[in-house]
Amino acid sequence: MTQPDTSLMSRLVSLCKRRGFVYPASEIYGGLNGFWDFGPYGVQLKNNLRDAWWHDMVECPPLGPDGKPLTIVGLDSSIIQHPQTWVASGHVGGFADLMVDCRETKLRYRADHILCIEVQYDKSAQTKSLGWLSVQSGDDAGELLAKKAKKLMQKSGGGDLRPIDITKAVPFTSLSLEQQALVIGPDAEVSGTLTQPRPFNLMFHSYVGVFQDEDAKVYLRPETAQGIFLEYKNVVDTTRVKVPFGVAQVGKAFRNEVTPRNFIFRTREFEQMEMEFFCEPEKGLEWYEFWVAERMRWWEAQGVKKTNLFRNIIPAGELAHYSKGTSDIEYRYPFTAPGFGELEGVAYRTDYDLKQHQAHSKTNLEYIDQENNKRFIPHVVEPASGLTRGVLVLLCEAYQYDESRASPEWLKLKPSLAPIKVGIFPLVNKDGMPEIAEKLYLDLRKDYISQYDAKQSIGKRYARMDEAGTPFCITVDGDTLKDEAVTVRNRDTAQQERVALAQVRPYLSQKLSD
Ligand code: ATP
Repeated sequence: MTQPDTSLMSRLVSLCKRRGFVYPASEIYGGLNGFWDFGPYGVQLKNNLRDAWWHDMVECPPLGPDGKPLTIVGLDSSIIQHPQTWVASGHVGGFADLMVDCRETKLRYRADHILCIEVQYDKSAQTKSLGWLSVQSGDDAGELLAKKAKKLMQKSGGGDLRPIDITKAVPFTSLSLEQQALVIGPDAEVSGTLTQPRPFNLMFHSYVGVFQDEDAKVYLRPETAQGIFLEYKNVVDTTRVKVPFGVAQVGKAFRNEVTPRNFIFRTREFEQMEMEFFCEPEKGLEWYEFWVAERMRWWEAQGVKKTNLFRNIIPAGELAHYSKGTSDIEYRYPFTAPGFGELEGVAYRTDYDLKQHQAHSKTNLEYIDQENNKRFIPHVVEPASGLTRGVLVLLCEAYQYDESRASPEWLKLKPSLAPIKVGIFPLVNKDGMPEIAEKLYLDLRKDYISQYDAKQSIGKRYARMDEAGTPFCITVDGDTLKDEAVTVRNRDTAQQERVALAQVRPYLSQKLSD
């Protein structure tokens, strides 16, 4: 299939805008970097992914290694917690990226995202340096550097520019202080305007109550997980859960990311789906392996191709000090391909979080195993994934391009996740067809999210539904009045089949249960 010139990401972003999946937030005021709004189809898709996760985590959790269902309960904790929470969790002291400011452009960058290279040229049989250029890392970094080098060369006049090899570029953080001072910032004109890297806390803060002083300072949660640790004791005391058990939560998280980018991949406000699985200390590693396998399987079940998923085992030397094992479940995004980027992290966090909260709150968080007469702080395995990042994965995976179709761009979403399940159209808006189509719509919408559309040509109506990823379209035509049957069009094959009106419900129920 011939693909248009523009990159897959820019086509996806514009399809999302055009069809009401995702809009830039505050667009009428010029937008706000790092914030996006989910439109009518987008919120439905996001809710469907959230509901699938909640169903498979809380309502019908997987079977454990012994073949028995696991116990996982739900929670919805506050976005703003006692500020000590974030001291205990380490976020106040350590939740920081190294960032660099540009004194010339006033722009701010993540230090490890600035790629630098020394530009050299040959003149009179001598190799000379044109200085250090930099760009933000990304798929077009090599191209950008080459363009900038050419411009610099033109200014200096004469000589043969040495080709730019992006693989030789190094992050700003690995340069010496002298070298850093020579770098021309990614958006700057002159060298030496980048500050030295310094830590930047990613938590948004606010104040509770009327006085805006340090005592009243609170944080917007940068992850949903800590709320679960804070309620661990209440859950144990008020429900009948017994170790091993999990507590799951879906909700908003906020991080003042230095460089939000790649559409809804890295944003400053996002949603997470996290589960803390509390287990016996000696079983931690076993449960960690269990959850990595289970979560990889789950993403595949949402329609993500196995070949686009990758388990990245974090090497022992790079693990957080409290972790005895972490694997990132990565996806091959268009902007990382052929490489992968994080979708979900599965971390064996040992008893670190509960111990920290026990020490800071002075509340005993030991678990009492009455059967075996034991007391211990449970160990924790945490599968933590991004809901909004998951939506991006579904969209990337579903995006299809086929010039032979009425709408060359269409979304092959898993039917159960598609925002609209069925489009219902009268072929023409007269001759008794709208009445039958409306009656069918009023019946089907009770169980399937349906859209009634009587406007424009039938081809255009199919095209709109293809772009929204709607798996089935039903058309009531002239023959329906005689044979009491309708035409059902399948999104994936574009094939049509005749189905008796009375059989439409069983037909959909079978096809949509996939
Ligand atoms: P990254 O390395 O991409 O910054 P992280 O390792 O900091 O992510 P975690 O703290 O493990 O991420 O959060 C769990 C999940 O939350 C991530 O796998 C990702 O799906 C999602 N997530 C984290 N930060 C963001 C963000 N800024 N925007 C969207 N989703 C995010």
